[in-house]
Amino acid sequence: MKKRWIILLLVSAMALGCVGKTIEVENAVPTAKIEGSSLYVKKVENLPDGFIMGMDASSVIAEEQSGVKYFNFAGEEQDVFKTLAESGVTHIRVRVWNHPYDANGNGYGGGNNDVEKAIAIGERATKYGMQLIVDFHYSDFWADPGKQMVPLAWKDMDISEKADALYKFTKDSLKQMKKAGVAVGMVQLGNETNTSMCGETYWERIIKLMASGSKAVRETYPNALVAVHFANPERAGAYDGCAEKLEAFGLDYDVFASSYYPYWHGTLENLANVLNGIAERYGKKVMVMETSYAYTGADSDFSGNTISDETGNIVKDYPFTVQGQANSVRSVIDTVAHVKNGIGVCYWEGTWITVGTNSWEENHEKWETCGSGWASSYGGSYDPDDAGKYYGGCAVDNQAMFDPQGKPLESLKVFNLVRYGNEIEPKPDAIADTVLAFDLKGTIELPETVDAVMTSNELKPVPVEWNVTEADLDAMYRGGVHTYEITGTAEGLPARAIVSMVKFNYLKNAGFEDGVLEPWQTEDRGGADQLYVEDKVTDSQNGTYHMHFWSAKQGSVDFSLTQQVTDLPEGVYRFTISVMGGDGGETEIFCFALVDGVEAGRTPMKITSYGNWDTQSVSGIEVKAGQTVTVGISVRCEGAGNGAWGKIDDGMLNAED
Ligand code: CA
Repeated sequence: MKKRWIILLLVSAMALGCVGKTIEVENAVPTAKIEGSSLYVKKVENLPDGFIMGMDASSVIAEEQSGVKYFNFAGEEQDVFKTLAESGVTHIRVRVWNHPYDANGNGYGGGNNDVEKAIAIGERATKYGMQLIVDFHYSDFWADPGKQMVPLAWKDMDISEKADALYKFTKDSLKQMKKAGVAVGMVQLGNETNTSMCGETYWERIIKLMASGSKAVRETYPNALVAVHFANPERAGAYDGCAEKLEAFGLDYDVFASSYYPYWHGTLENLANVLNGIAERYGKKVMVMETSYAYTGADSDFSGNTISDETGNIVKDYPFTVQGQANSVRSVIDTVAHVKNGIGVCYWEGTWITVGTNSWEENHEKWETCGSGWASSYGGSYDPDDAGKYYGGCAVDNQAMFDPQGKPLESLKVFNLVRYGNEIEPKPDAIADTVLAFDLKGTIELPETVDAVMTSNELKPVPVEWNVTEADLDAMYRGGVHTYEITGTAEGLPARAIVSMVKFNYLKNAGFEDGVLEPWQTEDRGGADQLYVEDKVTDSQNGTYHMHFWSAKQGSVDFSLTQQVTDLPEGVYRFTISVMGGDGGETEIFCFALVDGVEAGRTPMKITSYGNWDTQSVSGIEVKAGQTVTVGISVRCEGAGNGAWGKIDDGMLNAED
């Protein structure tokens, strides 16, 4: 009898342990439109009710420990999670590192995001009616396509031991969350695991680890979605390769998630195609797990940002304004909402702002003690090559959705307003840069109008006043080949013209910016797999277009690219062109000039690696009246690896005097 009582008591104690705490929910996510916003938002049509509007807010606790205060739209101090919910955020994402502390207990930084912090964040998210997306990095610090370091405690384990440890860690972490009453909606098995995870680089091993994590999720939160997360949707075929492996090894998961940073990750059209393909072929749900956009080019925490006004070679489809930020997010939501099985979009670190306004020293002290920078100096003990060298503050404070004082930006309301639309009268939001080139022997004529980027992201010509004097213009005529920045004002907004003083370029469509090949011509002697004009800003030396080549088979990259020019004034000319590429094997690349079909000179060129442009010239090209000049580049590569590839840009034919 007595024994039975004890058993009953034990059973009820266990049951209580499983149920855990119940968090009293004060649902703050609005079920109607937020009225009165000054933000222009075009409605996203047919947006499903349950569409995830996520916000990664991993750094909040470290921020608060550093003294950061967050406010609501009325200017009152308020729990930032309540403000997020009130703006239409439905899910909070949080990264989890196994043990982000050195042997003396000093945090590595980046929020010092361990399980304990995830629970504290999860409790607050749950309280305001949101669900948690748990992002296990399975590392002691940042995991991304560049690094996937194994947690120190697991470093000597074989794959079976590691899988077992990962299972236990996942299960234990989730059980603690459950006990605390946290509403977990989704769990990620690794972060941006493109080619490795947890120190492993073979798919079979990575998926074995993922499978043990998946099992732990199913056992603790059976209603939560299990997600995998990759980056670089712009790499053709990459996601298909990943999804195929996951299928082949039978991983039990629900969501195939992608990062999408518009600066680098290709077009939205490509993103839609890639995600649609995964949804169709593998029957998975798909989403964007990380995206963000700058609301300003300025840094606010004395620690340089990833993106600024000076950042070159990025796609900038929207101005760096609060409205531009909202427009970018709206476009990503619109794209995912119209993809098959598209379930949501999560913004990355919208709450990570400066911890001080006075000096680097003031902030540095907080980054070190509270972990509110991307890495503290202590992070170097685990990650000497990156954290150890470049530790510091926040590189995305200009992509937050709160200003440096902790006040929410109007853009935050986009998560609510996309459901209803807020198509108010568009007004000028920023002035697009004007890019001009003038012949040194010609006349500088600055335009009287510039393009205003409207809040609706449409362009509209508006009058401009340039801050330029006659003396400035004189200096430009006399200054030789040079590029100048001229400022101005239009509609009360700053305008900017980038003016290049150049020698006249006798080539047409010289940098392929017409988006077509003509009047260039190609002679494809090797039958290349790809040889075309490509629209990709990140691979262009200037502008957004360039000539692209790639071919898998040995020796199949063998072509010339030429342009013929007639009616040149008699004189001496110089031809210049640029190339970059790789995997060339043995190459014979040269630029050349022919006058009436007779070679007038050639200069060897080389391809080495991505981003390393080789610019070469043929000079002293003597031309008499009526002669035809043909200039161009000849490319022959044996090919190595996956085949020779390259980019050609910026042909120039100038008078040499
Ligand atoms: Ca910064």
